[in-house]
This record gives sequence, structure tokens and C-alpha cells, in this order.
Amino acid sequence: MEPILKIKNLKKNYHDMKDEIMAIENVEFTVYPHEFISIVGPSGCGKSTLLSILSGLDQKSGGTITFQQQNPKIGYMLQKDSLFPWRTIFENCCIGLELNHNLNDETKERVNRLLKTYGLIEFKDKYPDSLSGGMRQRVALIRTLATDPDLLLLDEPFSALDYQTRLALSDDVYHIIKKEGKTAIMVTHDLGEAISLSDRIIVMTRRPAKVKKIYDIKLTNASTPINNRKCKEFSIYYDQIWRDLDVHL
Ligand code: ADP
Ligand code: MG
Repeated sequence: MEPILKIKNLKKNYHDMKDEIMAIENVEFTVYPHEFISIVGPSGCGKSTLLSILSGLDQKSGGTITFQQQNPKIGYMLQKDSLFPWRTIFENCCIGLELNHNLNDETKERVNRLLKTYGLIEFKDKYPDSLSGGMRQRVALIRTLATDPDLLLLDEPFSALDYQTRLALSDDVYHIIKKEGKTAIMVTHDLGEAISLSDRIIVMTRRPAKVKKIYDIKLTNASTPINNRKCKEFSIYYDQIWRDLDVHL
């Protein structure tokens, strides 16, 4: 299968008044269609920087990013849902389409279908503050999917939520992404989340970020993310990746 994205020798430096901070030194990996990839690494190593470069919001300092497709559509979802409080759920879901000048009867129908399929249609005309944190993140995902992106970038999408909501929502998001046939790259600091959701996990080094290891996650009797936590390989991956991260206080 042809990769949809190849990243080679990616570099990123930030400049402030006096110093140059090297955030990404040499990142290389490939993404295949329909993969769910997680990126884990020490705090501050350059994970968010990587996603914002892939999204096109930030610029690389060197290296190459090659998409198989000419003008790929990229969906970007952040930790905070960043829904606009003065817009209804439906209007929030249409923001990306408006920005792309692509809001029409057909794309509005797509938003309606997504809201219906994922249990939010009855909240369509409500405002974000009437929804729980978990539901707001689900709306944020639907907003991201509304533009029919070729690649989804998720930056710690569950980390602002309490533990149980996070487990339930990660299951939910996984199923939505699979059902919609999307390819996703997710940054997370939660190893359990990474192992239970991913086809592959990319472990980064401390800043400046390089790829330290890539794991192919193979779980016996893999099913839903919540159940995947009970597979016998789960704790083996957990221990290995924990050691790779080399966390100390
Ligand atoms: P992570 O998401 O892995 O925790 P980030 O990608 O947010 O890390 O940041 C990587 C490094 O780059 C950090 O040292 C951070 O301080 C620095 N950095 C991030 N964004 C900027 C910026 N806009 N200007 C200067 N330095 C930045
Ligand atoms: Mg980050």
C-alpha cells in the first residue's frame, strides 16, 4: 500500500530574543491509509509542534513532508474543544466548512448526518455550555470531520476530561474514526490510551525530538479500546514504552 504521508528529516527551530530553541531535530516516519498512529514522548519534546507543522499552521525549518494527495484536507482537533459559546452546536460544526467556503446544502447534510449518527442531533440547536465536557469534545470531533479531512490530527484530545469520560470518549472517538474510514495521528501522554487505540505508536526522544522507536501494536483478540486493555500484550507494551520514555522527577 502507498503511504499517504512521508516525513523525512523534519526540523524545527524557534527563535526568541536571544536564543534558538531546537524543537525538532530529525523526525522521520510514514503514514498509511486508515492507520491510527499515536505519538508519545516526554513533555515539551516537540509533539504539538509536529502536529501544527503537519496542519500547516506552523512552518518547518527543514526536511520534507510529502502527501500522496495534491491538496490534502487536514482536520486538527485540540485538547480544549474551543467551541464558540455564542454559536449553536450545528453552527459550531459548520465553522470549518465556512472557512473553506464550502458550506452548502450537501455539506450541511453531512453535518446533520454526523450529528444524527453520533447521537447529537437533539442538541443541534443548543449552545455548548448546555453540554458535558465529553459531549463537547464529541462535537469538536464532528466539526473536524465535517470538512471530510484526508488526515485527522488530534492533540491530546481527551486530556481535559476526567478518567471515566476519557475512557468512554476514547472508545467512542475510535469507533467514529474507523467507521468514517479516516487516518489519524494522535498525540497523547496516556500510554494506555495509545496502546488500546493505535495500530502503531511512535515514541519520541526528549527535545529536540527525534523518533526513538516505533511499535507495531499487535494484540491477541483485539476488539474495542476498552477491551484491548485486557489483552495479554497490553502490559508488556506498557512496560516497554514506559522504559523508553525514561521518566524521572
Ligand atoms: P510537547 O507538545 O511535546 O509538550 P511542544 O511542541 O509544545 O512540546 O514544544 C516543544 C518545545 O518548543 C518547547 O520547548 C516549547 O517551549 C517550544 N515552543 C513551542 N512553541 C513555541 C513558540 N511558538 N515559540 C517558541 N518556542 C516554542
Ligand atoms: Mg503538546
